[in-house]
Amino acid sequence: MKKINKAISVLLCLVMALSFFGVAAFAEGDGETTCEHIYKDTVVPPTCADQGYTLHVCSKCGDWYKDSYTNALGHSYGEWVEVNAATCTTEGLQQRECARCHGLETKTIPIKAHVDENEDGKCDECGADMPLKFIFSPYEWLKSFIAFIKNLIQGIFA
Ligand SMILES: [Zn+2]
Ligand SMILES: [Zn+2]
Ligand SMILES: [Zn+2]
Repeated sequence: MKKINKAISVLLCLVMALSFFGVAAFAEGDGETTCEHIYKDTVVPPTCADQGYTLHVCSKCGDWYKDSYTNALGHSYGEWVEVNAATCTTEGLQQRECARCHGLETKTIPIKAHVDENEDGKCDECGADMPLKFIFSPYEWLKSFIAFIKNLIQGIFA
């Protein structure tokens, strides 16, 4: 039992010694920042999404910092362009491009309503069942009746 304790304390000493040297080495490294910095300034202009800034890099030790931040420009988008048209069953897709960074923004186009122009109770686009619109117009009825008779007569004499 005593032997094990001794082994542990030796190990602990070793760890402590190692960490001490580690700290010493780190402190030494830190000591390099006593460099009399000669900074070279580079103005980085802002982009659509990122701030601009002035970058100062020491030509002797490579130490750097940023300041003089300027606001991001924000994207300069053009008009929305349709990529895929919406149908009555699927969403469409449109996108616009930033004139500056050519970044694309996309947006969905909502699904269209079913259409039933020929009033057969089915969507003209996808064939989905639709409630029949019942509009009774005597004039329309007469018109189609006359057209029907005309076709019939033409059919007979053709
Ligand atoms: Zn320096
Ligand atoms: Zn942009
Ligand atoms: Zn439809």
